[in-house]
Amino acid sequence: MSHHKIEIFETLGQYMDLLMDAICVVDPEGHFVYISAGGERVFGYPPQEMMGRSMYDFIHPDDHAKTHATAAEIMAGSGKVDFENRYIRKNGECAFILWSARYSESDNIRIAVARDVTAQRKIEAEREALLTQLQQLALYDGLTGLPNRSLFYTRAKQALAESKNVAVAYIDLDKFKEVNDEFGHAIGDRVIRAAAKRLQQKVRSGDTLARIGGDEFVVLFECVQNPNDALAIATKLFDAFEAPIHLPEGNFNIDASIGIALAERHGDQLEELLLHADDAMYRAKRLAVRQVVMASVEEQ
Ligand code: GH3
Ligand code: MG
Repeated sequence: MSHHKIEIFETLGQYMDLLMDAICVVDPEGHFVYISAGGERVFGYPPQEMMGRSMYDFIHPDDHAKTHATAAEIMAGSGKVDFENRYIRKNGECAFILWSARYSESDNIRIAVARDVTAQRKIEAEREALLTQLQQLALYDGLTGLPNRSLFYTRAKQALAESKNVAVAYIDLDKFKEVNDEFGHAIGDRVIRAAAKRLQQKVRSGDTLARIGGDEFVVLFECVQNPNDALAIATKLFDAFEAPIHLPEGNFNIDASIGIALAERHGDQLEELLLHADDAMYRAKRLAVRQVVMASVEEQ
């Protein structure tokens, strides 16, 4: 290199710390040979405290293996522009670093540019968490955690579009107002939550239990072979209320009325199917026996 060129580099070197990124040079074993002044912003250590030490002294323990593998790839000649790992800053913070690196065979060193992407990664993580939370609010019932009416409709419509072997059960707790009146709304809520949990345990994994109103639940049964099959599956739901619900405030004997309707018999439109199941549930309520009532065909 000409003397003139060296002068240019030396002059540039004085301004290198203006770069937001840090320029790092490591030997084949991963010891820092050089770190530009920007390293302090990125890694949280004055560069002289890192020089001579292994990069693995600073890398997040969970990222050692992947860093090791990538370093080997770079040594083998492939340049990398999108490698990411985490460093632990001097103050204990975790820093997300995006690397652009290559190997210089003539000097037997790796030269890499480190970009601090911690702020972006944090924003992304927050956005992700918010999205999950919004999805939860939009699709699930806040009290019981069960799918809400909206998610139930989506799943039921999809099931009905795919198959006729679908049944819907409508479940309404009996005399639930009395629980509220006697013990208050807060305890009423806890009874609803416990009832939901009990019901969930009686529903097969492929089926959907949803809470669609105060003390109203529905179950979407898929792969129902025939009406008797549907009746048998729905009847199992009563097992949920066999034993009283135990709360510190007392034991609650809960009962429910259940009506069912089948796509094959009562229509393949969700709204009409639900109306039939609801109607059957009301007949069950009037009968006041623990028995699932099948929607009638004549009423269509
Ligand atoms: P029935 O036997 O005819 O079903 O009468 P019911 O007393 O169960 O009353 P109904 O099903 O007509 O109405 C549901 C009642 O459940 C109304 C209200 O008192 C109560 N309820 C509705 N939503 C909630 C809720 O989110 N929390 C609590 N604690 N109670 C609710
Ligand atoms: Mg009720």
